[in-house]
Amino acid sequence: MINEEFVIVATKNQGKVKEFAKLFQKLNKKVRSLADIDQVPEIIEDGISFIENAEKKASIIAKYLNTTVIADDSGLCVDQLKGAPGIYSARYAGEHGNDNLNNNKLLNELNNLNIEPDENGCLSKAQFVCALVLVNPNSNQVIKVEGTCEGRIINQPRGECGFGYDPLFYLPQYKKTMAELNVEEKNKISHRANALKKLYEILK
Ligand code: IMP
Repeated sequence: MINEEFVIVATKNQGKVKEFAKLFQKLNKKVRSLADIDQVPEIIEDGISFIENAEKKASIIAKYLNTTVIADDSGLCVDQLKGAPGIYSARYAGEHGNDNLNNNKLLNELNNLNIEPDENGCLSKAQFVCALVLVNPNSNQVIKVEGTCEGRIINQPRGECGFGYDPLFYLPQYKKTMAELNVEEKNKISHRANALKKLYEILK
């Protein structure tokens, strides 16, 4: 991976691609995602953990392209919802859902619990989790790492940046939601950045 000009990231999620592109810029590497590649095999995410899903994506795409691939499986775990939506974060509001519908469902589920918001309007502790798996199909090298980012779920969406659950993910240390941080600020603290730091440590 380190000797190649491009890093292949097994995702079509443009929010993730933008973050990976910034993160790999520091290493002078360009990111190619599945959106740049024709006819990628369909991957059913039926694992029972973030790592299992990421490994499945990375190994199928690495074999298909015959090159090193990094896959990300990530999501939001909310304490008051016993860890939901977790590995189902992308499809929380159903297969045809979207970020808005997922966020609405999350707030509805929390509102149903009649939780008294704290002084910042937050309803629960939560964490973003990112599993990264790198697969090199030629050497059979497989590296698995996980990064997290701790925060709270706020009762009103705020901010326009980022993607997914970012407008509801409040960071007490910044008094802002993740969607109120720009991509450089998010990349200093995010679950994805933390996972990538661990990957660098192993690769270097
Ligand atoms: P995946 O593509 O199966 O890994 O699904 C990831 C889902 O988790 C996304 O669709 C988002 O809903 C959520 N998610 C993961 N990372 C982030 C993030 O950095 N910000 C906000 N939501 C995220």
